[in-house]
Amino acid sequence: MLDAALKTQLQGYLDHVKIPFEIVASLDNSANSDEMRELLEQIAGMTDKITLRTDGVDTRTPSFTLRRTGTAEPQSLRFAAIPLGHEFTSLVLALLWTGGHPPKVEPAQIDAVKALDVDLDFEIYMSLTCHNCPDVVQALSLMSIVNPRIRTTVIDGGLFQSEVEARDIMAVPAVWLNGQPFASGRMSLEEIVAKLDTGAAARDAKKLDAEAPYDMLIIGGGPAGAAAAVYAARKGIRTGVAAERFGGQVNDTLGIENYISVSMTDGPKFAAALEGHVKDYKVDIHNLQRADKLIPAAEPGGLVEVQLANGAKLKGKTVILSTGARWRNVGVPGEAEYKNKGVAYCPHCDGPLFKGKPVAVIGGGNSGVEAAIDLAGIVKHVTLIEFGAELRADAVLVSKLQSLPNVTIITNAQTTEFTGTNGKLDGLNYSDRVSGESKRVDVEGCFVQIGLVPNTEWLRGTLELSKHGEIVVDAKGATSLPGVFAAGDVTTVPFKQIVIAAGDGAKAALGAFDYLMRQPALKAA
Ligand SMILES: Cc1cc2nc3c(=O)[nH]c(=O)nc-3n(C[C@H](O)[C@H](O)[C@H](O)COP(=O)(O)OP(=O)(O)OC[C@H]3O[C@@H](n4cnc5c(N)ncnc54)[C@H](O)[C@@H]3O)c2cc1C
Repeated sequence: MLDAALKTQLQGYLDHVKIPFEIVASLDNSANSDEMRELLEQIAGMTDKITLRTDGVDTRTPSFTLRRTGTAEPQSLRFAAIPLGHEFTSLVLALLWTGGHPPKVEPAQIDAVKALDVDLDFEIYMSLTCHNCPDVVQALSLMSIVNPRIRTTVIDGGLFQSEVEARDIMAVPAVWLNGQPFASGRMSLEEIVAKLDTGAAARDAKKLDAEAPYDMLIIGGGPAGAAAAVYAARKGIRTGVAAERFGGQVNDTLGIENYISVSMTDGPKFAAALEGHVKDYKVDIHNLQRADKLIPAAEPGGLVEVQLANGAKLKGKTVILSTGARWRNVGVPGEAEYKNKGVAYCPHCDGPLFKGKPVAVIGGGNSGVEAAIDLAGIVKHVTLIEFGAELRADAVLVSKLQSLPNVTIITNAQTTEFTGTNGKLDGLNYSDRVSGESKRVDVEGCFVQIGLVPNTEWLRGTLELSKHGEIVVDAKGATSLPGVFAAGDVTTVPFKQIVIAAGDGAKAALGAFDYLMRQPALKAA
């Protein structure tokens, strides 16, 4: 089950278990139960602090719960899963935290979880190949270990397929709370707590409104915003970052192999490193804050204001916009209706949910062709739909795709509608751009891979945007508004890459600092 390397790794971690606990497994005669038993026996065999019992009677088999020895605590954390693959780290952390090893989480966040004075029963559906799932699994696991009123059950959708089908779950991670859908997609501990604590937004707004103006206010916390923050802070000026989700797109990236000097890393690690680097300096980070409106300075050299979704206004002598980009939608009827009900955007996350089923991929660029190759190994059949006359991906990828027996490639096809029955996707219609005929593909899943769209809707009418909605910048990152700079994927700078966004953030911060130095002192900052 665990190879020699994993065993050694795990043995090292388990030395940190201080408080004895039991693993109570509920098993049956299935092969999956045998697999779980083998894994748990291996774990229990590594330390005398962990005892394995196999007399659990939970209705979900196989599953296991972790319970401190000698306590009458009800089950708080259960894995209805064999947590290997991307979830191996979640398993290790659950063992360590249950064994009394302190989590590496801000004390304020732990206090916020402890303060949740209500019974919460979470069920999280994940897949072992989903790189977005571990963050949510780990956040909810920690919550249930820290607060006895919180229960978390981690469920592998591939193992409990009938449950997934009964609940119409077609995208992971999917979180249910007290038997009702609660959230889907990647969420941090901070985001989950904020969603549960309804008074938090108003409290935040009051605090943010009272913030003194920043010398440099950065909106967006991806590679561009993070680099801008480090460069600004190193100039010794008052720097603040407001971001909807610190880390940006790299949070959704699997492997990163082209950030110079880092041969190989993964997205979540890279995002944590970005935040860690910014925190090395005196920078105010306002995470989970969405900017809604940019209010230009009333006079030349005056303060620029940014209104947040919670109503608060942050002020800056200079502002750097680095709000990046997001997946582009096809924009046809049925897309919103069947999103997470068959229409998906992350093949790594949701591919396993379509095991043995027919799916489509829309988009014949590198990401679409990579997705189709990846999915062909899991699903019954992949239909790749490309708008143009030929695929735009690298030749090596195209020839690999063409070699696969369960792939059909359709070019010159314009998707016109997603359709469904009983609330689930059952296919898509497209127009043949050569013959003009209307055609159809019956699929249960469709992965949209047609590029990105800049996050600039909130800026329309305030500064110059290109016809693609990107912020127009000059060589120093200056926008059409005095004192407002921009960097990264949100701008007209070509080639949307991490290293380019980071360099661009640094450049915009230096450009903004140059501007700042040339301003007469503000009268009433
Ligand atoms: C799946 C995937 C894989 C990728 N793989 C690679 C790769 O391997 N190598 C590579 O170099 N590049 C890769 N990229 C591209 C790379 O991630 C981007 O080029 C880079 O993240 C852009 O950085 P950014 O800071 O400009 O924007 P983003 O990373 O998009 O960050 C934008 C920030 O702004 C915030 N934000 C957005 N709107 C608002 C608002 N209204 N108010 C407040 N905050 C807001 C976001 O929450 C986020 O913090 C990949 C992208 C994707 C999607």
